[in-house]
Amino acid sequence: MLTRRNAIAAAVATALCVAAAPAGAQEQPKGKLKVIASFSILGDLVKNVGGDRVEVGTLVGPNGNAHVYAPSPADAKRVADAKLVFVNGLGFEGWLERLVKASGTKAPVIVATKGIKPRERAGERGQDHDHGQADPHAWQSVANAKVYVANVRDALIAADPAGKAVYEANAAAYLAKLDALEREVREVIAKIPADRRKVITSHDAFGYFEAAYGIAFIALQGVSTEAEASARDVAAIIAQVKKQKIAAVFLENVTDPRLVEQIARETGAKIGGTLYSDALTGDKGDATTYIDLIRHNLKQLAAALES
Ligand SMILES: [Zn+2]
Repeated sequence: MLTRRNAIAAAVATALCVAAAPAGAQEQPKGKLKVIASFSILGDLVKNVGGDRVEVGTLVGPNGNAHVYAPSPADAKRVADAKLVFVNGLGFEGWLERLVKASGTKAPVIVATKGIKPRERAGERGQDHDHGQADPHAWQSVANAKVYVANVRDALIAADPAGKAVYEANAAAYLAKLDALEREVREVIAKIPADRRKVITSHDAFGYFEAAYGIAFIALQGVSTEAEASARDVAAIIAQVKKQKIAAVFLENVTDPRLVEQIARETGAKIGGTLYSDALTGDKGDATTYIDLIRHNLKQLAAALES
């Protein structure tokens, strides 16, 4: 017969056993590996690969615009404390080099787009400032996001070799989710009539999506939000929307909506909603992860374009 006292002793012994058991295979480093990602989308990719072993901070947070970010002294401190700094590259974070220098960090700066063939933007509206500029928004193609993930995995393994098996397993699981996501994108777009696969956005952030999945995006601004569209650009776009019968114009979470609203007013095209281009949404939004961001955009496009 088990007395109450014995039962408590047994429970305590069991608890101790459980606590002692998991050592070995999954040994954790003393603290988590502190890393910094330059913007929220990249931060999410790093979190998925790093899992419990990594503490990820992001510099440009949800709904933030990394093209025109002004780092704070607190950012310099966070970069100084990081063991790795993940950046997009391709000219996305023009402010980063100075920040890294100012922080005095010795942490390696990992360019997540390494190995991705950059899309060159032709500057087709005759604006010499963006002529031939590389388009940094490579994450808008899921195939490219897989390259980011591989680069993140390799950098985490190099910085924390004891976590190799964990990083490899996390990356493999997440890559499988991205494969499924890409299939979903292709299936949904296949259902949109080919002659309706054209939309207007405020800045040229969807070139990789266009190249990968065949929806044409006509942008009011260049690949950076720093350059304003001129009155002549706007007039040309209004003419184009009317001539090509473009059905929908989209807002973005990182840019000023007024220009898009003007185009909608003057052409009769409907506002299809908000596309998430360069940043995740905050916790209350519907794109708190990269996968949700792509899914949200896909849903908005399909709803506006499927006749
Ligand atoms: Zn952008």
